[in-house]
Amino acid sequence: MRRTRIIATIGPASDSDETLKELVQAGVDVFRLSFAHGDIPSGIERLRRVRAIAPELAIMVDIPGPKIRAGSFGTSPVTLATGAAIELVEAFGSTSTAQKISVERADVLSQLHLGDQIHIGDGGVSLEVTRLGTTVDARVTSGGSVMGKPGLSLPSSIMDDRLPTDDDRERLEALRDEEFEILAVSFVRSGFDVESVRAVLARPDIMIMSKIETREGIENLNEIMEHSDSMMVARGDLGVRVPIEEVPHLQKEIVKQGIRYARPVVVATQMLESMTHAQVPTRAEVTDVANAVLDGASAVMLSGETAIGVDPVGTVITMDRIVRRAEESFPYAEWGAGLGVQRLAASGTQATRVTAAITGAAWRAAMDENAVAIVACTRSGMTARAISRFRPPMPIVAITPSEGTARQMRGSWGIQEIFVSPANDIDTLCEVAISELKGCGLAKTGDTIVLMAGSNSGGAAITDTVRMIIVP
Ligand code: PEP
Repeated sequence: MRRTRIIATIGPASDSDETLKELVQAGVDVFRLSFAHGDIPSGIERLRRVRAIAPELAIMVDIPGPKIRAGSFGTSPVTLATGAAIELVEAFGSTSTAQKISVERADVLSQLHLGDQIHIGDGGVSLEVTRLGTTVDARVTSGGSVMGKPGLSLPSSIMDDRLPTDDDRERLEALRDEEFEILAVSFVRSGFDVESVRAVLARPDIMIMSKIETREGIENLNEIMEHSDSMMVARGDLGVRVPIEEVPHLQKEIVKQGIRYARPVVVATQMLESMTHAQVPTRAEVTDVANAVLDGASAVMLSGETAIGVDPVGTVITMDRIVRRAEESFPYAEWGAGLGVQRLAASGTQATRVTAAITGAAWRAAMDENAVAIVACTRSGMTARAISRFRPPMPIVAITPSEGTARQMRGSWGIQEIFVSPANDIDTLCEVAISELKGCGLAKTGDTIVLMAGSNSGGAAITDTVRMIIVP
């Protein structure tokens, strides 16, 4: 089993039933559906269709926050030449061209100033404002090609809305009764942003993933980690808001903090960008994906490559090969040993401290005894995520009575999920674990399994037990 997960963004190039099935076969673990594009009913229709085609994978819904998009440039690249003049107009549902860009947000053009910089997409193309008015003129200062509906990065004072924005709220309300597992929230700047979105969604079963893509997001990283269930290094927007040379170091820092807090971290954007148009990636992209695995990312994400690219399935197959090879060089034993004494960060509640101690003990026992698997009996998935941060070389198996939790595991590093009916006492859970692991060939008589489970210690459900099972 590959242990680092692959997330594929669905778009016009990949949303036919046939391609979705091929993507599942190619190794996608999580489908990402962006609710930044298109209307809400078509988004919901696509969500239900993806669920029907991939009932065992996780679905991530991504809400846009204050992101402003351009009207579509179409499906072929449009060149914006350095020095060219271009007009910006406020318009919705209109196309954009090399001469005129539709800005899909009301009251934005009037807030621009002469000399303001506007970045298009993930930072390759930039404009400078040269004339103000009901429509605005700009000059291309850094040329390149654009396609689809790229984001427009405007000065941060214009994108200062708190979360959830009105548009987000409308999406959250429409999504409340839908079946998906992860909500990615764009432009999270504080723990309060996370809690505000959580309150509007009102779905405690859904993991909130905070996209780190602003300076404030970086400044408040620990607080955001504390309130979030998982994180994304959204390198596209981040790279236009901080100097690009900072991006690799911020990526490493966010991944490292994710390990401390037991939050899965996704490394996203431009991972195999050249495959949007070509059959093979650049060597630098291959190295980037491998390095993300070695940094300790839980998942690597494809955006335009699978949403609008020429070969979404081939791109996933390529990413799968790169990740598998990188995992062969992953320093499993040293990684866990480095964490051996590290407490789980976050609020310091008794439950967190107990989870940290129990998972640390389980990892040590599994390594010492060369166990064939570590089993986490888990309802919310927290225990499984907490052991996953040790990156053990043996399989981690999450046994859960929740179908949603089982699917959520697809976004976490190295966890195999098994969905079972609820059982409350530890002896029954051990029997279930033995028969499930024997059934799927992970364990045989004489092997050792390390199992973590909870009793109702002190009246609260908490994982407080490690047991070593010699398989009968
Ligand atoms: C990013 O900016 O890197 C990102 C993942 O966000 P989006 O694709 O929603 O623009």
